[in-house]
Amino acid sequence: MHFKAITIEQVAEGGTRAALGTFSEEELMPGEVTVRVTHSSLNYKDALALTGNAPVVRRFPMIPGIDMAGIVEHSEDPRYANGDAVILTGWGTGETHLGAYAERARVPASWLVPRPPTLTPIEAMAIGTAGFTAMLSVMALERAGLTPLSAPILVTGASGGVGSVAISLLAGAGWTVHASTGRPSEESYLRELGAHEVVARDELTKNARPLGKERWAGGIDTVGSTTLASVLSMTRYGGAVAACGLAGGMDLPGSVAPFILRGVSLIGIDSVMAPTAIRLGAWDRLARAIDRDKLKRMTSTIPLEAAIEAGSQLLSGRSKGRVVVEIQA
Ligand code: NDP
Repeated sequence: MHFKAITIEQVAEGGTRAALGTFSEEELMPGEVTVRVTHSSLNYKDALALTGNAPVVRRFPMIPGIDMAGIVEHSEDPRYANGDAVILTGWGTGETHLGAYAERARVPASWLVPRPPTLTPIEAMAIGTAGFTAMLSVMALERAGLTPLSAPILVTGASGGVGSVAISLLAGAGWTVHASTGRPSEESYLRELGAHEVVARDELTKNARPLGKERWAGGIDTVGSTTLASVLSMTRYGGAVAACGLAGGMDLPGSVAPFILRGVSLIGIDSVMAPTAIRLGAWDRLARAIDRDKLKRMTSTIPLEAAIEAGSQLLSGRSKGRVVVEIQA
């Protein structure tokens, strides 16, 4: 059987090319569960894969798409039965394993989690890897001892997917949130999500001094590079910063001063290989805590046919919030 899919191929002149076409079920990779994919989402990594801007795809041809929501169509694993509603984020899907931008996926059962019954597939994908990462970051700050009373918390890359969900989750739980953005025009959007103050991106992209004025109890950083170094240098004594992204660069040009003079903690966040127990806990919290109205306001929905163009838009900074990709009804 053939089904609709976006595939990425290597091209003779070097680089890769993404195109919408069909894919054969026989060519799907091994896995115990076949899923009829109904929805996916567009994350930063999907945009890199679609545009070929960074070598995130490690196998060709590849079906991109790191997030999926769908219905089990066939299962050789006792944990799942036909008709079960499932979600999958990460685990190399869309990078090393054929991904979600297709009407069918075949995946190891251990990568799936049941879709929380209170979330629709659209809501689950509006959250997706970005929202899951935002929740992992909030949980990391809590484990570091921060509470809403420790406020304020800074979220960088605030208008993006991770940033938008992080602001909404933090504000909903009573934290005071400062949002850093390079797009002043998005101030009202960020305030609607719950940001109390908006910080200009430029304030954080200059070379960081070893220690700056203590401004924030903690942060969720999606940007990396000089931004992360600046956030660390301006984190209050005993504070913590969850580092989850590299939208501004992969380097970290800072000093150890915040760690050894202010006892600041830098916490790494990875959503891709997060163990199942952590996933179940985070999705349970997301299902209970997410503000559905705000989630709706931060989400746009596109058909699979528009995903390639949407990937370019995301990387050029013209996308905001979350993008759900509709695969089939
Ligand atoms: P988005 O593209 O949706 O958001 C990124 C945001 O970062 C942009 O909206 C923009 O926000 C800001 N930004 C973009 N370019 C720059 C720049 N050059 N300098 C400073 N800020 C910039 O991506 P996501 O939210 O999906 O992902 C954010 C980051 O988190 C990515 O690096 C991604 O790879 C990473 N990530 C990591 C995960 C993990 O498991 N650790 C999982 C998911 C994502 P604004 O316009 O408001 O300034």
